[in-house]
Amino acid sequence: MSIEKLTPFLAPAYENFPKGRVVSLVVLRTTLSETIFRTEGTGEPMCREFVHAGIEDQRTIERLVMTKRKQIAPERRRGREFLRAYDLLYNAKKEESVCSLNTNAPCEMCIDCFLYGFAAGGGGAQKSRIWTEDAFSLLPAAELVSDRTLNGVYENGTMRLKRDDDTDKASTSLNTSEYIKPGVHFLDVVTLKDVTADELRYILGNILLTSRYGAVSSRVGRMENQILGIFGGIAELPSSLELVQSVHDAMRTREELLEHPFNRNILAGAVESVIDGWKARRGITLKLSPEEVQALIDDVDRCWSPDEREAFLKRLDEAYLPFRQEPVADAKKSRSRAKKTADTEAES
Ligand SMILES: [Zn+2]
Repeated sequence: MSIEKLTPFLAPAYENFPKGRVVSLVVLRTTLSETIFRTEGTGEPMCREFVHAGIEDQRTIERLVMTKRKQIAPERRRGREFLRAYDLLYNAKKEESVCSLNTNAPCEMCIDCFLYGFAAGGGGAQKSRIWTEDAFSLLPAAELVSDRTLNGVYENGTMRLKRDDDTDKASTSLNTSEYIKPGVHFLDVVTLKDVTADELRYILGNILLTSRYGAVSSRVGRMENQILGIFGGIAELPSSLELVQSVHDAMRTREELLEHPFNRNILAGAVESVIDGWKARRGITLKLSPEEVQALIDDVDRCWSPDEREAFLKRLDEAYLPFRQEPVADAKKSRSRAKKTADTEAES
């Protein structure tokens, strides 16, 4: 079992103090439909950055950027859908509302809070143990975007806020909008610090089960993630940018830049040859073989299968039981009560 091979780089149990164990993932993210990454409702262009094409090839090109936030937010929401389904989101301290993203009231008790972190609110703070970076497109941005007139719709799915509202509230965001074409590849490195085996399974599940990114719609934003590499060690892997530049160098055969659309298997092969060389880097001890990566993905798929999902999530949730705390002010006298409450909640 390949997850056992990662044992030296996984925490045996959750603890609040880092111990320098690092598991890193190399992720290929491919758009399967038109996709839009920018702040909603604004006409600002797609996020892009001027960088060197490769590490050897020092020509400057403009690459599309998928920001950290655009990756993490949908993946957290995906996992939280299942936590909600099995009643594993808790009520935020002092509030009667259940844990939710983008509010100032995280519950500080659920799997998502323990993994992705929360700011000091009540008792303490948990730094996120999932470190992401901006992901870059392999090819130049100009090849990958196109323009189209989009109807800006309100959240109710229409052009108007209310059905009988026929005057001035019609959406004005009917304009020409840039979108990313289907078949665009982003390469990404994700770093996991001091996570347990079940936490690794949870994070991989979130990444593999998330299929919509960027602007929210039923028609745009479809993406597929593929795990191309898993490493264990005490240091981070090279950055997402270095990865995309090394792959560019490896694939460049002539003076022209690579062209869209690009075959995913050829790309995956080039990525494998690049990351295979990372085994020798300082602080990197282990690289799972492609077969071992597949075995680990199969293990993750089993944990998330309909038969095992509920038991898997509840097992992970219970692992945090001893660490759930009441706010600092009355922590001492109510510690036992808090534990009891958490017990009941975990069982319900
Ligand atoms: Zn929470």
